[in-house]
Amino acid sequence: MHEFELIRQVFREADYARPGGAVVRSIGDDCALLHIAVGEQLAVSTDSLLEDVHFPAGADGFLLGQRALAVAVSDLAAMGARPLAFTLALSLPRADVDWLRELSRGLQAMAQQTGTPLVGGDTTRGPLNIGVTVMGTVPDGQALLRSGAKPGQQLWVSGPLGAATAALQVLQDGDNDYPGLFAAYWSPRPQLELGQWLRGKDGAALDVSDGLLADAGHMAAESGVRLVIERELVPVHPEALALSADRAPEWALCGGDDYQLVFTLFEQQAAALQAQFPQACCIGRVCEGQGVLLVDGQGRPVEFSRRGYQHF
Ligand code: ADP
Ligand code: MG
Repeated sequence: MHEFELIRQVFREADYARPGGAVVRSIGDDCALLHIAVGEQLAVSTDSLLEDVHFPAGADGFLLGQRALAVAVSDLAAMGARPLAFTLALSLPRADVDWLRELSRGLQAMAQQTGTPLVGGDTTRGPLNIGVTVMGTVPDGQALLRSGAKPGQQLWVSGPLGAATAALQVLQDGDNDYPGLFAAYWSPRPQLELGQWLRGKDGAALDVSDGLLADAGHMAAESGVRLVIERELVPVHPEALALSADRAPEWALCGGDDYQLVFTLFEQQAAALQAQFPQACCIGRVCEGQGVLLVDGQGRPVEFSRRGYQHF
């Protein structure tokens, strides 16, 4: 038990685990205690990162810590929630304290960037797995749901896609000439400001974790609408294009892990959105019907499968 005690110390003594603000009691008791204001709902989401499944074996602790928290906080952004706190469930094959300190430094960087303090967790022995549960708050009834898309709305994405898939190609080749891709994969930026801005605007939102077309399919199904996406309007990350002008457009449509938000809006809100979030792009529209329809510049349907797409 001695080494687990050591592990708890690493996290308990970290700057980002201090009580304060809404955190009444942090690490050290049987539960953390969090204050939630009247009129707010709690948004909760869990993500696990398992070695060899979600990240390459031997990954750098700092980068992993950043990414583990970023992908979890992205779910709060997609609901329009404001981060409150997170807990950390660690399964570790051995107690490598140096590596854990690096993991903790990475978690701290993202915790400070997103305003999400650590308030507790659990530590067990087993295959390397990093489980993060994030909690956030949203005013009663104002969370952004996947089911909120309405025919007549525009479909938007918060920024360029394809970088994370491109990064995985580069990482496999051991190539380090694409710092923007590296950053996109290891420290995606949760779109918290945008998520909160979208509250009360009558649309739907989700974050792109599986790929634009796959995730748009989830929104279409939950909303009972058809989403029409214009292929030429989908923003492709410039460094992904630099890596492969041929393949980058497909990475942007089908690759996952970018953690941009996909959302819907009525046209009247578009100018205000663009003024505040210039990276956001309108990529299509919400129609009656079902599923996702990808069209080319002439409005002709483009066939695609989960793995890729082809022209008719
Ligand atoms: P219990 O057996 O009562 O669950 P633990 O010994 O598992 O208590 O944990 C003691 C304290 O340390 C708790 O406050 C718990 O939240 C915290 N803790 C344990 N592991 C971690 C971890 N990996 N990260 C952050 N806090 C942790
Ligand atoms: Mg415990």
